[in-house]
Amino acid sequence: MPKIPTHLAEVNERIARALSNCGRPADGVKLLAVSKTKPASDIREAYQAGQRCFGENYLQEALEKQEQLKDLTIEWHFIGPVQSNKTRAIAENFDWVHSVDRAKIAVRLNDQRPPHLPPINICLQVNVDNESTKSGVLLDELDDLLESLSNLPHICVRGFMAIPAPRDDFEQQQQALLPLANTLKRLQSTPEIQRHHPHLDTLSMGMSGDLEAAVAAGSTLVRIGTDIFGKRQ
Ligand SMILES: *Cc1c(COP(=O)(O)O)cnc(C)c1O
Repeated sequence: MPKIPTHLAEVNERIARALSNCGRPADGVKLLAVSKTKPASDIREAYQAGQRCFGENYLQEALEKQEQLKDLTIEWHFIGPVQSNKTRAIAENFDWVHSVDRAKIAVRLNDQRPPHLPPINICLQVNVDNESTKSGVLLDELDDLLESLSNLPHICVRGFMAIPAPRDDFEQQQQALLPLANTLKRLQSTPEIQRHHPHLDTLSMGMSGDLEAAVAAGSTLVRIGTDIFGKRQ
């Protein structure tokens, strides 16, 4: 078998095993294939092997690949840092944005989402390690940010995304993500939040190096690049 389909099958197998190991339902995690820096032909190969959701970090690169792949029915996710001057093109060309870290970006995506498209799905990026160099809001700031996004009909707030600092140990990887998982549970059962954000169901956590720990911590969407497409230059 060519290597991308093989790797994809292995990643799907790891997700299934991780879910089964912690007693979660077999359909509890969506796989996002992260194709940044990889050619459109790699995405096509993964698509032909059954993968439908792809994540890109760089707008210009993503738009070029979307043009080359417009014959396919791909669900496109933007997962890179969002600058305000890029929100219009993102609102016009993506189904999801995982990296919303301030109200201003969410408001712009709402205002610039073309009216003929369904609301754009967004995740709020959370800085789970309180690292000053990382983007994302702090856990303590999440309630206020969510409340400030209450009346924006062209975005659909789906949940949270985290990129934790790399750790080797399974337990430590899982511990780093549990506070965010608990925060989602708390917010899902807060009536005032529920009323304004009825579709909060997503924890975008887990990359090639911490997939299993993220699934154990409650991830519902893993973002896998290297283990599907190989190392990036
Ligand atoms: C590149 C990237 C990934 C994929 O990381 P791998 O370690 O290659 O699986 C996931 N999420 C984000 C936000 C990324 O930028």
